[in-house]
Amino acid sequence: MRKGEIGDMSNNNQAEICFLCGKSISTVNQLLKGKYGYICDTCVHDALDVLQSQEDEDYSDSVRLATPSQIKKHLDSYVIGQDEAKVSLAVAVYNHYKRIGRNKKNSDVQIQKSNILMMGSTGSGKTYLAQSLAKFLGVPFAIADATTLTQAGYVGEDVENILLRLIENADYDIEKAQTGIIYIDEIDKIARKSENTSITRDVSGEGVQQSLLKIIEGTISRVPTSGGRKHSQADCFTIDTSNILFICGGAFDGLDKIIGKKECSRPIGFGADITTNKDDAADLSEVQPHDLVKYGIIPELLGRLPIITTLQPLTEKDLVRILTEPKNALTKQYQELFAIDGVKLEFEEEALYQIAKLANDRKIGARGLRSIIEKAMRKIMFDVPDIDGAKKVVITAGVIDGTEDAVVYGKYNKKIA
Ligand code: ADP
Repeated sequence: MRKGEIGDMSNNNQAEICFLCGKSISTVNQLLKGKYGYICDTCVHDALDVLQSQEDEDYSDSVRLATPSQIKKHLDSYVIGQDEAKVSLAVAVYNHYKRIGRNKKNSDVQIQKSNILMMGSTGSGKTYLAQSLAKFLGVPFAIADATTLTQAGYVGEDVENILLRLIENADYDIEKAQTGIIYIDEIDKIARKSENTSITRDVSGEGVQQSLLKIIEGTISRVPTSGGRKHSQADCFTIDTSNILFICGGAFDGLDKIIGKKECSRPIGFGADITTNKDDAADLSEVQPHDLVKYGIIPELLGRLPIITTLQPLTEKDLVRILTEPKNALTKQYQELFAIDGVKLEFEEEALYQIAKLANDRKIGARGLRSIIEKAMRKIMFDVPDIDGAKKVVITAGVIDGTEDAVVYGKYNKKIA
């Protein structure tokens, strides 16, 4: 038995017994002395357990508090357009966290997980949507690239490494990680090579899809702590993936032609034009599961991704909105940088459309915006700190093209450079 002090007791004549359970100093491991009495180590541990379980409950409550419309509203302040995907995601996420709460309560009806498949061209906002969602919900989030994965036992990343990333992002709190969100990008790149099972092993395509099945559906997985291969039980975290929401994304290039195929009859004859006109290509939002199977996604994996949603390619107008509207829009970021030097930064509308046009020409959607604007702004960012009396800088379409310099104004709106 030991005696410890956690504060000075005003009355030193008190009996040396725990004021909660009444055990005396001779029957406990440790008795802590406080201002108004003693408390034993067992009662301290019991109190901590109660607090911990309350914290856990509060955590799962907080992640499922937001309604679908609140989730969408939050997404709206970051992600431009993509309303269909936002609504699908908001409903799926709302149901997901409702399901976690419900399934905990030992009901007869176990609600199944609603993992999501997001389709949309590069740079249309798939990753950004998933990221913004996790941030709003305050749940751990991890991004994985399906192309780096290989079937277990082959050179490359094991699928368990995805879980390790989530655990790391949850600060090694397994309980928290178990209600996180994982975004698996480029899922279309692990499509199997042909619809018929081939004799040669398809370790980077179908093999990976097979490996993903279990963790996406929900399993107790052993994750090597170092990200390497499994060694012993001691080197592993054990994580239950049944409450982790998986969002898979991909551009699915060429899928429009598969969807289109069933609608147009095949041209016959020598020299018949078999090229598909882009305008005739079907809308991805019309996709049916059998089209995805044709594309090379195995039916078992599709079965575990019951929610399919599509993102629209971004138009020039969308890109201009992305440049100017979101809370952390790129133009706002540059304006902030210039404001620190006391300079107002303005982008002419033509300049914004020129940036959007260049990004669209590169076919990488909003992903191209940053490098285009960065390149165009480099010279003025270099020059302006040395221009005496600079108050305002105007970016024209010519600055974006690289054919003109930015216009600099000084006091009384006088052009000085
Ligand atoms: P992908 O569809 O290829 O996953 P990302 O989500 O990675 O595209 O988009 C790249 C970047 O472009 C994002 O980080 C974000 O800054 C911007 N972006 C893309 N789409 C949108 C959008 N709809 N609204 C606002 N920003 C967007």
